Amino acid sequence: MGLLALGTALDWPDAKKQAHLVRSWGIKQLLEIWNKAKGKERDAMLWGDEVEYLVVKYSKDKPEVLLSLRQADILQALASDKSLSKEGCVPPLPDGSRPQSSQPPPVFHPEFGRFMLEATPGKPWGIEFKELLEVEPNMKLRRCIAKDHMLPNEYPITLTTFPRLGSPGVFTDPFYPVSGPRLRSQFVPDEIANPHIRFPTLAANIRSRRGRKVQVNVPVFKDEKTPWPWRDPTVNYDPHQWPEDDDVRNGAAPDNFIHMDAMAFGMGSCCLQITFQAKNLTEGRQLYDQLSPLGPIMLALTAATPVYKGFLADTDVRWNQISKAVDDRTAEELGEKPLVNDRWRIPKSRYASNSTYISEDPRLRPEYLDPDLVIDESIKQQLLDGGMDDRLATHFAHLFIRDPIVIFNEDLKELDLNKTDHFENIQSTNWQHMRFKPPPADNSIGWRVEFRPMEIQITDFENAAFSVFMVLVTRVILSFDLNFYIPIKKVDENMETAHARDAVLTRKFYFRRNLFPTTRASRSPGSGSGTSTPVPSRPPTPTGPVEAEYRLMSINEIINGTAYARDTTSEEQLREEEDTEGDDFPGLIPLVESYLDSVNVDVATRCQLATYLDLIRKRASGELWTAARWIRHFVARHPAYGQDSAVGEGVARDLVEAVVRVGQCEARGERFGGLSVCAAEGGGVPMLGRLLGGFR
Ligand code: ADP
Ligand code: MG
Ligand code: MG
Ligand code: MG
Ligand code: MG
Ligand code: MG
Repeated sequence: MGLLALGTALDWPDAKKQAHLVRSWGIKQLLEIWNKAKGKERDAMLWGDEVEYLVVKYSKDKPEVLLSLRQADILQALASDKSLSKEGCVPPLPDGSRPQSSQPPPVFHPEFGRFMLEATPGKPWGIEFKELLEVEPNMKLRRCIAKDHMLPNEYPITLTTFPRLGSPGVFTDPFYPVSGPRLRSQFVPDEIANPHIRFPTLAANIRSRRGRKVQVNVPVFKDEKTPWPWRDPTVNYDPHQWPEDDDVRNGAAPDNFIHMDAMAFGMGSCCLQITFQAKNLTEGRQLYDQLSPLGPIMLALTAATPVYKGFLADTDVRWNQISKAVDDRTAEELGEKPLVNDRWRIPKSRYASNSTYISEDPRLRPEYLDPDLVIDESIKQQLLDGGMDDRLATHFAHLFIRDPIVIFNEDLKELDLNKTDHFENIQSTNWQHMRFKPPPADNSIGWRVEFRPMEIQITDFENAAFSVFMVLVTRVILSFDLNFYIPIKKVDENMETAHARDAVLTRKFYFRRNLFPTTRASRSPGSGSGTSTPVPSRPPTPTGPVEAEYRLMSINEIINGTAYARDTTSEEQLREEEDTEGDDFPGLIPLVESYLDSVNVDVATRCQLATYLDLIRKRASGELWTAARWIRHFVARHPAYGQDSAVGEGVARDLVEAVVRVGQCEARGERFGGLSVCAAEGGGVPMLGRLLGGFR
């Protein structure tokens, strides 16, 4: 179940005193595993997804929807059910037969929010193409099993955020009043967090280290009747219970921003993560680097988060809100005060896009790296002395500028080199958009890379589509030895760009013009090179201005290629684009397709993969809507919406009802019909076809 061992968690002032010890033991544990695992070869190409859910309480005949705080009971029910494979939860294949799965029962995990659940497959997926077809039924199975262990009126849904989390009035079941000593939030009770000591301690120590509450301000969407300047009407300026209550009186809640003040507003969001195991260390480092520039693109493409605390936001994705919700930097680290007690100014939150490339690929030019990267020099030296190379030592010396936030007293008795707990303490609270995961202490599995930016999608069809797409992209990267490098600072810029409303259609992103090594025609797509082709030695490090290597591209261009983008972009948009027009770009989907052409995939598999690629193609071109757009339209056309940015109880309830209904349609298992039937049926789910397409 992944529940962490109980112990005595130190409050911040005490934890801070032990930070150095934890770091130094963490580094020793890292070196131990490094020396054990650096030569590991031929690990299998495995991967696995993680799906996160909100648990809502909803009834057809009730005027409200609530977050259910029964996470612990639900996990308990799941844990005590040995079989976890209800016949009724296994949907039939399109031809009516039952799928044969070699998968053990799925695994359910706790999450930060007491209203959240996470589910992973029972074991990671393998390299076979056929297994890609098991992902969607398995995701449906997980959702069904989760639902089976809930009350009749509870549902696991995959919206990224609950639309009225932190709104005035009742939004949880059971109800708890604000505010509590841990979060000190004026909007959410302490009971919103998983009660396991780790989570409230994490929240309290972040607040405490920072010296005030976290400040999660999201620009509000200005609609026709939104008063302007807009002042968040839910902010209370009068409380005097905690010292942190002064925050709002000191300007924490600026005009035109939805103001939130607790970790739950960020870490209470759901996402879709994918972990890949590489065959060895070198390949893991390559994947980490090559997937990095794709992070912001996939974030914008999966946009699903237009509502916070009962208001429409002017952004479409969750990322920056989580970043702010766990930002533990002090005023000194933020550059607001001269450095006296702290060691560095730190430009980013510990939840942020990654700041390092880690491969020793000669195509990685020094100009791509962050010249201002903050690292702990003494930690880097220890890693170098321990035999780690400069680039990877730099990466970890950057992660280790952070303090450990949650420390259990029991773990400080002696250093255990057969564990990685102290290393993981720092590693797992560096929430970057890529995570480089070394093998566990027992060295039982390989080097892994986690792709973390994607937003969770409403249906399992979509979640499977995005998971499978990323898997295919990694195969293409490895098989064609693609080069996606751009300066890491441009990836940061892209991450910001990805937040804009409808960024997928209205914004452009820095992207590398030429993904292929020009001197190696033999490894271009369609040449039949598979993963087993030996990699010829790479050309020498390129020279010439780095700026010439990338340009601004639309997501349509990046995903579908220049030709497709030209055909699916309006005249108006084309005129605006003239000044940035550049060379032709092949597009990721055409690359995936030429890869699929070059390997043996049976027709049935290829057909289903095509439905996934089709969804992604059309999201990128705007033929289909992102979930963010669909939610905005849902709100805009709701009779109770007053064009004033406020998403009231009735609207939120009906939105969740629609999402529950989509889930029920999907659960019927009519893979190629169920969802479109929902879209068409009277009184069904409005505009579902715009989100999911027609399902030929
Ligand atoms: P975390 O929350 O730390 O990212 P989880 O255990 O929740 O990790 O999920 C990680 C994902 O990685 C799961 O989908 C799991 O199936 C998958 N996974 C487990 N072992 C491997 C492996 N050896 N290679 C690739 N993926 C793996
Ligand atoms: Mg997980
Ligand atoms: Mg986890
Ligand atoms: Mg997690
Ligand atoms: Mg998770
Ligand atoms: Mg994860």
